[in-house]
Amino acid sequence: MERLLLYLLKSPSLFCPSGRQKYVPFTRHSSQTTLQIFRLSAAYRSRFYPIKEGGRILEFIYAGKEFKTLGGLTVGTATTHYYASKEFKAKQETTKSFTCSPQEVISGGDFGQSTYCHLILGLHFSTQVEFVASAFSYTIVQAFSFFQEVWREICADIKEGNLSSRITLPNMRKAVLALIRPNPSLASHIEEICLELESSLGWLGLIPKLWPNAKYISSIMTGSMLPYLKKLRHYAGGLPLVSADYGSTESWIGVNVDPHLPPEDVSFAVIPTFSYFEFIPLYRQQNHQDVSTDVDFVEEKPVPLSQVKLGQEYELVLTTFTGLYRYRLGDVVEVTGFYKGTPKLSFIYRRKLILTINIDKNTEKDLQRVVDKASQLLSRTTQAEVVDFTSHADVTARPGHYIIYWEIRGEAEDKALEECCREMDAGFVDHGYVVSRRMKSIGPLELRVVEGGTFGKVAEMCVGKCGGLNQFKTPRCTTNSVMLNILDDSTVKRFRSSAYD
Ligand code: AMP
Repeated sequence: MERLLLYLLKSPSLFCPSGRQKYVPFTRHSSQTTLQIFRLSAAYRSRFYPIKEGGRILEFIYAGKEFKTLGGLTVGTATTHYYASKEFKAKQETTKSFTCSPQEVISGGDFGQSTYCHLILGLHFSTQVEFVASAFSYTIVQAFSFFQEVWREICADIKEGNLSSRITLPNMRKAVLALIRPNPSLASHIEEICLELESSLGWLGLIPKLWPNAKYISSIMTGSMLPYLKKLRHYAGGLPLVSADYGSTESWIGVNVDPHLPPEDVSFAVIPTFSYFEFIPLYRQQNHQDVSTDVDFVEEKPVPLSQVKLGQEYELVLTTFTGLYRYRLGDVVEVTGFYKGTPKLSFIYRRKLILTINIDKNTEKDLQRVVDKASQLLSRTTQAEVVDFTSHADVTARPGHYIIYWEIRGEAEDKALEECCREMDAGFVDHGYVVSRRMKSIGPLELRVVEGGTFGKVAEMCVGKCGGLNQFKTPRCTTNSVMLNILDDSTVKRFRSSAYD
């Protein structure tokens, strides 16, 4: 009989208005399709970028913790299940590429400690590394910007065959120390390269300089990962960026059959056997004013895979082998072509998703919910109230973090605002966010209080651009630099959450 596991969905509030986490089933079939798509994509990649059999992958991968339900079923994220499964080992054997880090590093549960060990082991095996990878490109960028800070410590460890005291997890220490040996010549070679990278190159081409046999970098680079491309290209210094496949917790969807294309042009050929796929045709509203990110669509009846049209935008609907029936994923895709009769989809964006840095996914509703709760707290404990708000996912900071801007009316003590900030951070229950915060791959949420009248200036700016005060709605999340400048220039107080300290 097939083993049934429970699996934790990371974006519950799209379909679950209470914002509670939602479980979807995960079975042996789910692990098997994961293995199938990874083997398939390895085969397509090797057509363009052949790699040496038996080589290593410098993989920045992280598994979270699993727990049991009262009924005894295991719950965890898809990647956690996968990294602990026999399919993960089978993938390494069949693709003949082996990750540098042992299980103790992958499943350590601390982002900083695991990243340090991924880096030290990647350097230990540097001549054998055939490519660099991660699930989402955010983690590669984070890892190398962390490397810029700790490379001297890493060199000292490689020289001595030792491990920094920052690695406190006993199993991780033991596993890494069992693999490394004192290597003074490698340490001085790395030191020489890093000094040059730091002084004259601004870390341009860090990856090929330190991993001279790496052929490419592979990771999800499309969709919400596009903002990290610039930095990734900087570190890659000309090495090809290969955009990884398209899938979700609920089902794998498509494979990148054109790995040589830049991430901006990538589309995914749907594998029709992974699920039963249907597509809701979407039509952009003609007169929609795109002052915020909530561009929305008029919908038509779903069509099957065989009836999709070139150039049309759709929302994906899945009926899965794990029991989900006509399940709306929320992703907007465009059909950009066909490959052996199956449609190729380019990912446009996740509908209603506004805040995302890494594997976290929060919608406007999630944001509204946490702000509502915190503003109720503010009204209860002070004489102040929230007049307006917006948010921004700051991906330039390391680690990236959410900023929520509040304009308040009335007097509020710093202590009360600090508490509101904490409340909002703890209030995002999306599993991707919680895991990333616990592992510190996303930093503490920041509350910025702006002076009175700031949102009025924001409205003037938007109306000036788009016309019609009637239609104006404060964007609940923004990446608009003019708007961010107004907000930052008007910031009078800043608080950092202590929710995960
Ligand atoms: P999750 O809900 O955490 O399982 O993440 C699945 C979601 O991540 C998908 O529904 C997409 O919104 C996004 N995603 C997954 N793969 C890709 C990809 N290759 N490009 C862009 N977005 C992706």
